Amino acid sequence: MKNSIALLQSFASVWCARYLNGRNRQMPFVYLDITDRCNSACLACDIWKVRKTGAAELTTDEILALKPALKRMKTRLISIGGGEPTLRDDLETCIAGFRDIGLSVHINTNALKMDCKRAKSLVDSGLSVVYISCDHPDREGYKLIRGVDGLNRVIDAVKYFRSLPEPIPVGINITVSRLNKDVLEKLAQRCVEWGVQKIQFNLIHTHLQHQNMDKEIFNSLLPKAEDILHIKATLKRVLCRLQKLKVSTNSEFFIHHFEKTYIPVRSAPCIAGFLYVIIDPYGQIMPCYQYQTDLNIRRKSLDKLVQTSKFQNKLVCVKQCKTPCWDTGSAEPGIRFYLPYLAAHPYEIYQQAKIHLL
Ligand code: SF4
Repeated sequence: MKNSIALLQSFASVWCARYLNGRNRQMPFVYLDITDRCNSACLACDIWKVRKTGAAELTTDEILALKPALKRMKTRLISIGGGEPTLRDDLETCIAGFRDIGLSVHINTNALKMDCKRAKSLVDSGLSVVYISCDHPDREGYKLIRGVDGLNRVIDAVKYFRSLPEPIPVGINITVSRLNKDVLEKLAQRCVEWGVQKIQFNLIHTHLQHQNMDKEIFNSLLPKAEDILHIKATLKRVLCRLQKLKVSTNSEFFIHHFEKTYIPVRSAPCIAGFLYVIIDPYGQIMPCYQYQTDLNIRRKSLDKLVQTSKFQNKLVCVKQCKTPCWDTGSAEPGIRFYLPYLAAHPYEIYQQAKIHLL
């Protein structure tokens, strides 16, 4: 009961800040990119190529020093990504620290470094949900897209997380491109057989974290206009099947507007900087990768930085933003926070909250 009231208060606070021009006193979600390093070599991502040389990643102490600010901002969920977060040996320490203040802690991983021992130590530290990237159901297809021979690692990792005495939910992130557009049903079926709890699809794009992607490579992976119709039809079938199997997935609205990944028309208001804030591996904060700031948690606490005019001015850009960034991390929270959608899909929202929050 207490938890539900707190959840409603958070919702009201974010909603007022976003839609009634109030100040955002709460920040329910934090996306923390803990490193730019990565051990995959994906075609659809350039993070593994473009490291900020010379800059020092946040230390364990600097990361855990966020805790008082997170408490003040009533943060409920921290999603740790990268790069590849498991490359940091202090990941468990960070998870334990955040769990200690009652946060739901998620990681986004390629699972290449995951073995039974690591999965157990992550869960023992307090990990709540793990998202694993996987873009193809066959070994060779996986290798072609992700540049490494890792499909069996993914399959094993799902098994490790699901066979622990206290298993945690596993989600699979799938980037849709010309290289896997014809195997999406097969891939979803495989994920179901592996026993995952969530499957989410994104179209390949050059926004947010992928703004520096090589345009030639991107064009070679970009589905053609007629392919997108075929992909949408396939995913609508996949969604129906997953819903019947009670496997969580994208919202129907997201798939219905899938082509908005490339068309600068906003179908649901963006909530970046109101519902969540992003922290990069070097401590810089931003409401969205598209609107970077020079505000750094090494100099001031996160809650104070969010209240600065520099950050608040970026929120004006967010509200007016027409960047076609139809991505699950940004668009799905906006869709599910949009009152007409929320009113029409209360059960779906409840399911999402159940998976993602403690
Ligand atoms: S719509 Fe929102 S998440 Fe997308 S680029 Fe603009 S500000 Fe960022």
